[in-house]
Amino acid sequence: PTPPPRVIYWFRTDLRLHDSPALTAALDLHPSVLYPVWTWDPHYVYRARCGPNRWKFLLDCQSDLSASITKLNPKSKLLVIREAPQTLFPKLFKAWRITHLVFEKDSDAYARERDESVIEEARKAGVEVVVKMGRTLYDPEELVRENKGKPTMSISQVQAAGKSIGGIASPIASPTWLPDPGETDLDDIEQTRPGTEPDLNSGVRKGSEKSYERLAGPNGDFAVPTMEELGLEEATTPHRGGETVALEMLSKILEDKTYTATFEKPNTAPTAFDPQATTLLSPHLHFGSLSVRQFYWGVQDIVDAYKGKASQPPTSLTGQLLFRDMYFGAQSALGYSFAQTYNNPQCRFIPWHLPSRISPSTNLITGTYLIDSARAHLFFLRWKEGRTGFPWIDALMRQLKQEGWIHHLGRHAVACFLTRGGCYVDWERGAEVFEEWLLDHETACNVGNWQWLSCTAFFAQFYRCYSPVAFPKKWDKEGKFVRRYCPELLNYNHKYIYEPWKAPIADQKAWGCLIKGDGEMMEEGEFRVYPKPMFDFAERREICLKGMKKAYEVGLHGNDPRVLDGSWRKL
Ligand code: FAD
Repeated sequence: PTPPPRVIYWFRTDLRLHDSPALTAALDLHPSVLYPVWTWDPHYVYRARCGPNRWKFLLDCQSDLSASITKLNPKSKLLVIREAPQTLFPKLFKAWRITHLVFEKDSDAYARERDESVIEEARKAGVEVVVKMGRTLYDPEELVRENKGKPTMSISQVQAAGKSIGGIASPIASPTWLPDPGETDLDDIEQTRPGTEPDLNSGVRKGSEKSYERLAGPNGDFAVPTMEELGLEEATTPHRGGETVALEMLSKILEDKTYTATFEKPNTAPTAFDPQATTLLSPHLHFGSLSVRQFYWGVQDIVDAYKGKASQPPTSLTGQLLFRDMYFGAQSALGYSFAQTYNNPQCRFIPWHLPSRISPSTNLITGTYLIDSARAHLFFLRWKEGRTGFPWIDALMRQLKQEGWIHHLGRHAVACFLTRGGCYVDWERGAEVFEEWLLDHETACNVGNWQWLSCTAFFAQFYRCYSPVAFPKKWDKEGKFVRRYCPELLNYNHKYIYEPWKAPIADQKAWGCLIKGDGEMMEEGEFRVYPKPMFDFAERREICLKGMKKAYEVGLHGNDPRVLDGSWRKL
């Protein structure tokens, strides 16, 4: 008789026990031992931009998951191992006599490549691999297949493809038991470490060092590390990670049946804080501490039973989850080229004043373009640092940096302002800043939404632009949000809160804050200082509109040969 399976369960995008099709599949194997493993992937550790707030959120998720595993089996916990999966697993397969490797499917471009190489290693080692979808409502590859092989670029395409796939799966309950882990002795294996210059294909370079501690952490116990051990700055976000918190948040939202059933995204205030107007579940969906199907069905059941008029996709809560699937589908079809303009057939090419780092145009800057580019670079830095002189934009960017989350319409406002509605800076620059600071950073959603806001894909009405004055006034006449994140302006009369440069100098003095300079200066004598606006918004809007109109007329996309070889400049 064949001995019972010895399984590694590889946690990645699914830091939870509830509704996990992959974990269920692992338990269905009736293993004699199950190793719950997390591996540090150098691709994310060294190459992705990740600020301390998202690190902290990840460690919260890992600690909570580990504690939940131990609750089910006091001998078990999450084993955090410090090595790239591509080189680690072949060694673990051998050392732990593994028969099966099980994990949740990940359709991100890099993840697919990584998983293919791990699957190949497993094949060589005679280890069976089980992969289950669980990260999105629909399998992104199936969505694309049902969308005639094309990237999903609209909600109606997602809805039509979803219809052909069939229903959205119901959530699976958390397991009530977990097998023992086997021996975790790794004394005889060597750690393969990434070199100083990561290999561009895998992020892994060989250069090994025999050290158990390097694999198993400073205490040799595979524990979840602390921020100090990782040498990271302290996090400033008030938002906590982990499945326990996520499920509590979801159940609190669902208790309010009217809120859940009548939620309409465009009617939620971007200026609301403490509490915010939307669910703030996005970081939990990103780390998989909340299952998206648990969320979907929790809402849908309430909508189905609701006696009044419930909202509908795309503005309803379930509609928001469909947007998430739409971006995963687009990414899945386009692979690496999805995340950039260069070579992307779906993304319009705009000759931004500040191009992306990889744009072919960067080497060809001449004449007035150079001046525009230098100015746009300055705009970009001031935008990032929250010192544009437009309080609405600065408050949002400061909230983003401190807390790692801002409301969707706040994201709209800062993304439009940086790109086609103010600074004329390439969306890829803004997406990089979001990648560093967002707790919920998800390549598919971040990139897709930046393309939407910059009118390079998904959305084309570039003449519709957010004013940094009129738009926030609609939501928050008193400017409470601005006062919270730009405390320099705390005492300003609401009449000037979004345009403080218009306040008479005597009032500026009376309210304790002078409007001058470019944001380098924080105070002058007894007064605080807030910067002057970095440009005339109406004037910039005209410049941007003219540029966008011309770019749309020329109509180039990222894969056009004239974009690839730089000859677009002669058009
Ligand atoms: P809710 O309104 O409560 O919505 C529920 C869930 O639906 C969210 O948690 C999220 O998973 C999903 N969702 C809602 N709106 C969108 C959307 N437009 N696109 C995709 N999914 C959506 N979302 C991310 O998850 N990760 C990102 O990196 C990200 N970057 C963005 C960048 C820009 C420029 C913009 C404009 C939006 C971005 N979004 C991103 C989408 C959206 O802003 C956030 O998902 C949402 O604000 C999260 O807050 P919430 O959980 O309270 O959302």
